Amino acid sequence: MKHGSLGNSFWKEALDSAGQGVWDYDVRTGRRDHSDTWHVIRGLQPGVDPTTTDEEWLDSIHPDDRDLAQDQTNRLNAGELAEVNYEYRERHADGHWMWIMCRGRPVAWDSSGKPYRFVGTDTDITRIKASEDQVKIVSRRLALALSSVQIGVWHYDFAHDSIEWDMRLRSIYGLPEDDTPVPRMVWENALHPDDYADAIKIAQEALERKADYDLSYRIVRTDGAVRFIHSRVSYQEDLIGEPILVGINWDATEDHERSVALETANRLAAVRNAELEAARAEMEHNALHDTLTGLPNRRKFDAVQRDFNTQTAAQTRRSAILHIDLDRFKQINDVFGHDGGDFVLQTIAGILRDCASEGALVARVGGDEFAIFIPDAPSEATLSLMAERLIMRASQPIRYQGNICRYGISIGIAVAEGLGDDGKSLFVNADLALYRAKHEGRGRFCFFRDTMRTQAMANKQKSDEILAGIERDEFFCVYQPQFCARSLSITGVEALVRWANPNLGILNPPDFLATAEDLNVLAMIDRMVLRKSVNDFRNWAAQGIFVPRLSVNLSKSRLRDPNLSRELASLGPLPGKLSLELLESNFLDDQVDVVSDNILAARAAGLEIEVDDFGTGHASIVSLLRLKPDRLKIDKALVEHMAASGTKAQLLKSIVEIGHVLGISITAEGVETDWQIKMLQDIGCDELQGYALARPMASADLVTFLRGQRVRSQAGAAR
Ligand code: C2E
Ligand code: MG
Ligand code: MG
Repeated sequence: MKHGSLGNSFWKEALDSAGQGVWDYDVRTGRRDHSDTWHVIRGLQPGVDPTTTDEEWLDSIHPDDRDLAQDQTNRLNAGELAEVNYEYRERHADGHWMWIMCRGRPVAWDSSGKPYRFVGTDTDITRIKASEDQVKIVSRRLALALSSVQIGVWHYDFAHDSIEWDMRLRSIYGLPEDDTPVPRMVWENALHPDDYADAIKIAQEALERKADYDLSYRIVRTDGAVRFIHSRVSYQEDLIGEPILVGINWDATEDHERSVALETANRLAAVRNAELEAARAEMEHNALHDTLTGLPNRRKFDAVQRDFNTQTAAQTRRSAILHIDLDRFKQINDVFGHDGGDFVLQTIAGILRDCASEGALVARVGGDEFAIFIPDAPSEATLSLMAERLIMRASQPIRYQGNICRYGISIGIAVAEGLGDDGKSLFVNADLALYRAKHEGRGRFCFFRDTMRTQAMANKQKSDEILAGIERDEFFCVYQPQFCARSLSITGVEALVRWANPNLGILNPPDFLATAEDLNVLAMIDRMVLRKSVNDFRNWAAQGIFVPRLSVNLSKSRLRDPNLSRELASLGPLPGKLSLELLESNFLDDQVDVVSDNILAARAAGLEIEVDDFGTGHASIVSLLRLKPDRLKIDKALVEHMAASGTKAQLLKSIVEIGHVLGISITAEGVETDWQIKMLQDIGCDELQGYALARPMASADLVTFLRGQRVRSQAGAAR
């Protein structure tokens, strides 16, 4: 410690030891005394003064603080200030800036009252300044954070019962954003009545435990708006250990609204999902079920079978399919309308459901087709009983809109032992068996046998050949003459189709007509026969051969052909020359408009109508009256048995008589013997056709035949 007047003062020692550098300046003498600490805080050697003048001292001061230091010093020296107390930056010996807090005052004055000696302390406040800076930085960061999340802060001082709210908190609660004190009960008063009790309770309990707590509640602002608030409160102590509460609030209204909106959206989405799921399930159900009967459809049926076949159990299980077809469904629709048809389908569905064994799958697999799949099939005997029961129940007439409705079913049954065949062929087998059942006369059932498949394959081959034959124009006509029963002169010819099969030779209709009918090409064959025979007919006339009449056979499908009348018209005028032979069953079965229209059109064109194979079907007098045919052709079977049975002869006679009463001419077919000719002449038959008189022959042969006939009759006439 040193020099001059500073050296002896104990109190200066005390100041030094407290880290305060003491200075003592006498402006009259220019003496500048500094304590050791004054040097130490500046990084100087004690006793070595860096500056000797005010100017030098000012040079070491931070440029920004120079004016302040100069001003304070000048005014102190001038006696304007009783003391100075300011902070400034001064260069430390090692080069960095240090903060100094300078306090001083005059201690001696001259006679004019002007101070000339000054004493003071310099305190190194660099560290304090640094922490102040730190605090400022932290505060700025905190303020930024609080403002970005819009958090308001409050503070309650227990000791002074004082409450402070920052501006943001005031804004959240809708209070004036100024310095006015917030009322003591501001928070309690703002609480929403529904949340009041809970919020107060939680706050009080936490306070008693001196614990921090979180709260969520609603407030009603002074402007009436309801806001959702989240708050966090912390119990703390201030610097002197007094308890305080510090809390933050943030307005969660938007979050709340968003979460409510989200919840609503979620709920709606869940409802929508449920609706979609229900719609999907319904669509799936619809895709796999028939809407009319509610039964599984073909897709479902196939899928169940596929699943079954992929199970290993299927290897050893005996399964069966009953393929059921409604007999004459078309007629039901025609007579009772579509609603009637639907009613019958629903009735059958009910019967099948009733009769099917447990575990069996009943499905509607087509318009009027049903199928039952039995994964564990019983014996053929039991299956037969089941089929019989179904057929029996389906043969019971039902009432529809007060009318009796009769219908029936045919059933094809196929059984698979183990997997032997895949499911598809089991269904195909049942279908083949059904086809057979229907062919055998409907209203019956039939089990699949391997021969059916061979037969089906042969039919398939035949079908292909027929189609090829049509394409290659292998079908042609032969003509069988018809004779007047009394004079035995020619009355007409019947066109009969033949097939010049390249491999099998000339084939007759029974060899291919049924297959052609199945293939739906019979109408096509009929059309061709009509065209060719009319052509031949005109050629004969051109050659001077007179043929009174040409008869052609019309199949069922041809009779239903909507183009028939137009095609008949396009043949040109043939009144009384062309006759159409219809099978009894064809026009009786079909009370269809197009059939009646075609018959009417034929009549209008002057064509004749004949009923072919009469006596083999079930034409009633009433239906004959309705059709009013020109001719009945008594079937060969009746003619054949005439000799063997007196009753048949009598029957024939009656037919002829009835025909004549109705104005219908009678032709006997299949006349093979002279005896038959005689008999038929005796009972009054009008015309005869048969091998006894002439066989079917090619067009050229017919020309020869007719020329011979003419020669014979001319010779007869000459005699
Ligand atoms: P259908 O119309 O009753 O024709 C008479 C059938 O009896 C012919 O047989 C004829 O050859 C045969 N026939 C004639 N006289 C005798 C006889 O004295 N004894 C025997 N045993 N048979 C005799 P075909 O030509 O085999 O024709 C069979 C059936 O095929 C025809 O019976 C007819 O229903 C049908 N058919 C023939 N050609 C056509 C056609 O172009 N279209 C249609 N849709 N059916 C035809
Ligand atoms: Mg015929
Ligand atoms: Mg016939």
